[in-house]
Amino acid sequence: MPAIIHIALGSNRRHGRHGSPQGVVAAAIVALEDAGLAVVARSAVRTTEPIGPSKRAFANAMVAVETSIAVADVLAILKTIERDFGRRRGRRWAERVLDLDIATAGALVTYDWRRARQGLIVPHRSLAARAFVLDPLVEIAAGWRHPVLHLSARQLRARQRRPKPQPAGSP
Ligand code: ATP
Ligand code: CA
Ligand code: CA
Repeated sequence: MPAIIHIALGSNRRHGRHGSPQGVVAAAIVALEDAGLAVVARSAVRTTEPIGPSKRAFANAMVAVETSIAVADVLAILKTIERDFGRRRGRRWAERVLDLDIATAGALVTYDWRRARQGLIVPHRSLAARAFVLDPLVEIAAGWRHPVLHLSARQLRARQRRPKPQPAGSP
């Protein structure tokens, strides 16, 4: 039976043909369609300030695809598209032409979700902590429920936005 999978897209480098990170993200959505993943919803493409060692702003978006392809095979498709866009293996968080992550796959939880350190982890491990993932997810799937945390996308974003308690004694 076809399932809905949410794919997070990010870029913070220009591409020779597709241009700015915004153009890369738009072209990547077309590439998903070309690979047989039917895009049934898409968020706006947003610009997000960089985190980590990279200094350039990111373009980010979220799409929903409807597909009967198993998630592990979807991940293989995403890696092929990243390579086609010229992504090289390198440091996590480094500058990259294109990053495609599986954010959610409905109610699917991969084995040993809380402890897994490698392999495919779904829902994406950092989903609940990242505004640049939660904002576009809320835009297209506010009611999606996290199958481990038991909160909707909208509730996860509200939690993520709340100021974090500071340890005693911190300035
Ligand atoms: P982050 O995962 O924190 O967003 P990243 O996207 O920069 O960091 P990558 O270097 O692109 O990390 O991916 C590292 C590995 O994560 C990939 O080889 C992939 O197999 C694995 N991985 C695990 N779960 C997922 C997922 N849900 N979506 C995409 N890749 C995943
Ligand atoms: Ca990522
Ligand atoms: Ca990735």
